[in-house]
Amino acid sequence: MPAAAAYLEALNPEQRRAVEHGAGARDCAPLLVIAGAGSGKTNTLAHRVAHLIVNGADPRRILLLTFSRRAAAEMTRRVERISRKVIGDSAGVMTDALGWAGTFHGVGARLLRDYAEAIGLDPAFTIHDREDSADLMNLVRHELGFSKTQKRFPAKGACLSIYSRCVNAELAIGEVLGASFPWCLAWTAELGQLFAAYVEAKQRQNVLDYDDLLLYWAQTMSDPALAADIGERFDHVMVDEYQDTNRLQSSILMALKPTGRGLTVVGDDAQSIYSFRAATVRNILDFPGQFSPPAEIVTLDRNYRSTRPILAAANGVIDLAAERFTKNLWTDRNAQQGPQLVAVRDEADQARYIVERVLENRESGSTLKQQAVLFRTSHHSGPLEVELTRRNIPFVKFGGLKFLDAAHVKDILALLRFVENPRDRVAGFRVMLLMPGVGPASAQRALDHMAAASDPIAALGSAPAPPRASVHWTAFVATVMALRGRTAGWPAELLCARLWYEPHLERIHEDATPRLADLVQLEQIAAGYPSRERFLTELTLDPPDATSDQAGPPHLDEDYLILSTIHSAKGQEWKSVFVLNVVDGCMPSDLGAGTSDEIEEERRLLYVAMTRARDDLHLIVPQRFFTHGQNARGDRHVYASRTRFIPNALLHLFERTAWPTAAAGAAVARGPAVGVRIDLGARMRGMWR
Ligand code: ATP
Ligand code: MG
Repeated sequence: MPAAAAYLEALNPEQRRAVEHGAGARDCAPLLVIAGAGSGKTNTLAHRVAHLIVNGADPRRILLLTFSRRAAAEMTRRVERISRKVIGDSAGVMTDALGWAGTFHGVGARLLRDYAEAIGLDPAFTIHDREDSADLMNLVRHELGFSKTQKRFPAKGACLSIYSRCVNAELAIGEVLGASFPWCLAWTAELGQLFAAYVEAKQRQNVLDYDDLLLYWAQTMSDPALAADIGERFDHVMVDEYQDTNRLQSSILMALKPTGRGLTVVGDDAQSIYSFRAATVRNILDFPGQFSPPAEIVTLDRNYRSTRPILAAANGVIDLAAERFTKNLWTDRNAQQGPQLVAVRDEADQARYIVERVLENRESGSTLKQQAVLFRTSHHSGPLEVELTRRNIPFVKFGGLKFLDAAHVKDILALLRFVENPRDRVAGFRVMLLMPGVGPASAQRALDHMAAASDPIAALGSAPAPPRASVHWTAFVATVMALRGRTAGWPAELLCARLWYEPHLERIHEDATPRLADLVQLEQIAAGYPSRERFLTELTLDPPDATSDQAGPPHLDEDYLILSTIHSAKGQEWKSVFVLNVVDGCMPSDLGAGTSDEIEEERRLLYVAMTRARDDLHLIVPQRFFTHGQNARGDRHVYASRTRFIPNALLHLFERTAWPTAAAGAAVARGPAVGVRIDLGARMRGMWR
């Protein structure tokens, strides 16, 4: 087929080997593609899927697991683009059938709806996001009396992190505490009690948290008959970013394809950055040996993304890692300009520097979307967001506060969730407490009344109204009944929910008008989902990102700058990349425990950030930096020094500049001034600590 050859010819021989591996047979030997950043792993995977489809594989029987839903959508688009060249218009129809492309959590949620009853789960379960989970943990904590009896008992967020770590790493509480939360060791027994009660509460209320989606999926897979049934659904199972999966995820994969046949995994051990969520790089390193005969391994060493100077600097940083990563990437993309190491006075100047460069780039033809600003932690972009807003530059922020985190949006979603699953206490409390005259005690009474009944919705109707809220209560019950009866239909029922909520919103919030606009936007988002259940599930698992005007996701045709945590930037690339706060204390972060493993992970994080850039990379080093911790003088600004991951020996790989220059009007100064000031900063910080 000559047309088929065209897309294969665009690949290098190693990529092509991976794409053609197994000649499309469903029982082909397991395949591992392990290679460095920008070497075309994701692209190769997309070609492999397309190649399978154009050669007759059934797209409905391909399971494609990616790191985010955005990545799955992007992959599906690529597959379609490639296959269209061969099979023409039917490619769109085919990729529409690529229905099993998504995250482990998303796919888990869908499978569980089908298999819930087989494992004793009610298929009408609702899903808690992290905040809801923390709220439930808190409710249980109060019920057990720990918040009163145990002084300085870990906060709800810490409890949830410990719990989540135990589940995902399949470790006992004591082990997790010893390794990562040593200051909580005194409460090992109480935490055990708390977690048991938390699990019991979730079961009673028929809610699943994020971890449960994997846990129940794994549990389903532990039944041989169910495992065979689910495994049978898929001829090919493919995973991108395999280095960031955890033990539970790999055990699910092994149960899906115990012989490894039909399994393809792709990743880069130098980019493993999720160990704080119990991801383990051992998954990818141990993959080949798990099968007999062992998996086929393909390595790629040509980087197609970045210019030679950017790649040299990134390689320089990762070569200093304690661990030896074998890949040595090369590129033939020459460039005059090297990556910039830019010294600025403080975070305000850092923001101004970026705005100036971004606008300059736009003048010379780059769109905003081709540029991204990356940072270690979501709150680091604060000063930049202020500056961008002041200068009217639209932006979208990934990995930070989401549209759905806004209180008013959560209120409406809690109402829908309560209607979907009236046993969900976190949702129930949230909506009931919106009404004047309903306090925690009366909400609890109503919820207890419902919980004791076999039909909780009928019980809500017969529950006595709280005396000081009778009018509001009647309206609330009527709304719940109408929504439950699906009188208005989907998505019109959101309007019904909003009409109930409006007077409460106006009473609670002074700025009701923009919040109402958000809710109208939510109704538009809802129109894109076929049902309430799918809407709630998919929004909880992959919420839209926040934008500069806080009014939900932007229209696709708008141009906007990308702001993203490094963690959320995984797998992506931009023409220009700016990395904020490339200073010690931030990279590596001084919030972690500072073990050598943690420091090494932070080095890989910087490597991930640097390898996102195609043409243009700016690492910015503010000399004064606002920190969360306090120094001895109670001052929250510290003098920062350049990250230890770029020691003097690597400086020749960068162009060093200072901004703004002392002389007004001078564009950029070069020279040793940076190093001198940075050293001074380091000395002063040393004095304070
Ligand atoms: P990461 O480790 O960051 O996830 P990756 O290995 O998945 O990177 P891709 O994102 O697939 O790399 O590819 C990086 C860039 O290289 C993309 O722009 C892609 O289109 C391009 N590319 C990959 N393979 C080739 C090729 N054979 N010829 C030309 N361009 C290629
Ligand atoms: Mg990739």
